[in-house]
Amino acid sequence: MFSTSNSRINPFFSPKSIAVIGASEKPGVGETIFSNIKNGYTGKVYPITPSHTTVFGIKAYKSVLDVADDIDLAVVITPNRIVPSVMNDIGKKKIGGAIIISAGFKEAGEQGAKLEKEIQSIGKRYGTRIIGPNCLGVMSLSESNKINATFLKVTPQHGNIALVSQSGAICAATVEDAITQGIGFSKVVSMGNKVDMDEDDILELLSDDPKTKVIMMYLEDIHDGRRFMEIAKKITRKNKKPIVALKAGRSAAGAKAAMSHTGALMGSDDTYDALFAQSGVIRVDTLQDLFTISTAFSKQPIPPPHPTIKGYSTGVIIVSNAGGPAIISTDMCSKYGLKMADISSSREAIAKVIPQYGSAGNPVDIVGDADATRFEKVLSEVLSNPNVSSVVTMCTPSATLNYSDLARTIVKTSKGTGKTMIAALMGLAEGSENKEILSDGGIPHFMYVELAVRTLEAMYRFRDWLGMPADIPERFDVDAKKVKVVLDNARKEGRTRILEDGGYEILSAYGFHRPKNIIATSEDECINAVKTVGYPIVMKIVSPDIIHKSDAGGVKVGLRTDEEVRAAFKTITDNARKYKADATIKGVLLQEMIKSGKEIILGAKHDLIFGPLIMFGLGGIYVQVFKDVVFRMAPIGRQEGLRMIESIKSIKLLKGVRGEKPSDLKAIVENLQRLSQLITDFPEIEEFDINPLMVLEEGKGAFTVDVRVGLRKTNG
Ligand code: ADP
Ligand code: MG
Repeated sequence: MFSTSNSRINPFFSPKSIAVIGASEKPGVGETIFSNIKNGYTGKVYPITPSHTTVFGIKAYKSVLDVADDIDLAVVITPNRIVPSVMNDIGKKKIGGAIIISAGFKEAGEQGAKLEKEIQSIGKRYGTRIIGPNCLGVMSLSESNKINATFLKVTPQHGNIALVSQSGAICAATVEDAITQGIGFSKVVSMGNKVDMDEDDILELLSDDPKTKVIMMYLEDIHDGRRFMEIAKKITRKNKKPIVALKAGRSAAGAKAAMSHTGALMGSDDTYDALFAQSGVIRVDTLQDLFTISTAFSKQPIPPPHPTIKGYSTGVIIVSNAGGPAIISTDMCSKYGLKMADISSSREAIAKVIPQYGSAGNPVDIVGDADATRFEKVLSEVLSNPNVSSVVTMCTPSATLNYSDLARTIVKTSKGTGKTMIAALMGLAEGSENKEILSDGGIPHFMYVELAVRTLEAMYRFRDWLGMPADIPERFDVDAKKVKVVLDNARKEGRTRILEDGGYEILSAYGFHRPKNIIATSEDECINAVKTVGYPIVMKIVSPDIIHKSDAGGVKVGLRTDEEVRAAFKTITDNARKYKADATIKGVLLQEMIKSGKEIILGAKHDLIFGPLIMFGLGGIYVQVFKDVVFRMAPIGRQEGLRMIESIKSIKLLKGVRGEKPSDLKAIVENLQRLSQLITDFPEIEEFDINPLMVLEEGKGAFTVDVRVGLRKTNG
């Protein structure tokens, strides 16, 4: 973004000089921002104001053009209507960046929106990058230089969290909360109306920022999903910095009437889920989670792998002075899918230091009369166990336990171990000293264990993301020309829906397995078709006017005799006419019956903003009821395909319940990849449903028994 050729430095985070346009001594935003900057910033500051010759004793100028030296950053606090002329001066002065605090733009109606367009084009003309307008400002904090170009009353201490927010209010609240908990920031960016610099640009600036270890984001929308994914992935995977994001607007119902299940099932928020999953961004739903999970990442290491056994999955241990809470924590770990560490090699050592009626397994119950010393012995032992990657120390008040001593013990034992340590200390009456000790010692602490375990889960999830092999979409050898012919034919006939025969042609061109199929137009033709397809057989109506065949009584499965086939032909065609009197009936499809398959849905869609997307989930006629589906942006590789499968709620059904053989997951992944290639290759396909894909047991493959293709409507 800020290439060295057109800009000496990053004007927003490390300016050598700042002009404050609208600086003032009068109480208000102009005064607060100017004072904030002056108080911590070590570079040169130029107050710009038409009405005064000095501001707090510093020489003031009427315009940035009157300043002889170079200026890197301008902070604009003037009334909205004069921002365009100010921006013109900023451009002429060749200032690299402008933070426009002023409000009264897009958020204030049509007039403001026009003004916003104007400043956007001025910025473009001169190459001035803009943050805002209508924002709280920007902070860039380090030990020696604290730039607080916001109108917050307070400046937090410097730290390793970067906060990026689309809402100024959330910035303000988060910064204040952090101050009371001794948490510091490297950067705080309030993006405001995002007229120029958006989340992608800010992330790019933070990507290589050595001061930033964790990025905390509050978002309302994302301008460019594909670019976001690219940058965020680089930050999380390559630079190993976690991004924790709260995206507002989850409930917004984006799903609309659509021909396909894929279209009907997808709300706009699912695209964000996909985007975050594929970028390694940890999505949270509450401000509390945003704050606690980000700060845990900033304080504690990510749970480490086993020191000697490659690929061994290390786990959590719970150390408690009470049985009940220990069991609750264990339940919580199981709910969040966290593995409990195997500590059998430490059992003997633990048993020696706890009473007989305690428990030396995981969870460790060191019993109600424990003091800090007993905690210390047990904590040291479990921390040295190579199978342990994180520890939750939790306690309940007791006469023998001094909470401050315990807090010191937790801090001391965890130092230098490289393992994740968190604490849940119940009992408000124990006072605040223990919490201060933990905070100062970098231990995330909670009152109840639920939040503690949820925080750990986010950390393990991030570890898994880092450990996941790279996802490389592979290209299968396919017959794209054949698909093109099918699509073009539909176009020529003015159809946006591809019929069964065309659908199956597309599938075979892209290497999907399908059962034997023949379309027949009379009872006799049906009997003929049976000779090729064989019994048992399935019969379905083929009509451009009937989309959901079962709804129209247009599907018969498990037919075994010629009589049944003849009867079915009659029933199906009669039903179709009853369902829709003027329906064009092309015939009846006779299809090989796929026995003992599990019904899966695969879908694909072209989104106007996010591009090609694919969907996977539990299929069949109940798909709309269970809505157990996930989305991804295409193209995807095998890894992402596997992750998709693992992330649905009903994954257990596919892994085999009660002695069933597991389903052929490999075949599902391959089908997903082929579909991902297809939808990427043909942007004119608006929606594509395979419902169901019949998945057989491991090694036996998967077959498409129903396909639905919709093309984008073109004008004219
Ligand atoms: P539609 O979705 O238009 O109602 P489908 O072709 O998906 O029609 O058929 C409905 C249901 O019939 C499927 O969900 C599946 O349970 C069953 N079915 C359809 N074709 C087959 C087949 N070839 N083998 C086994 N079951 C089938
Ligand atoms: Mg179907």
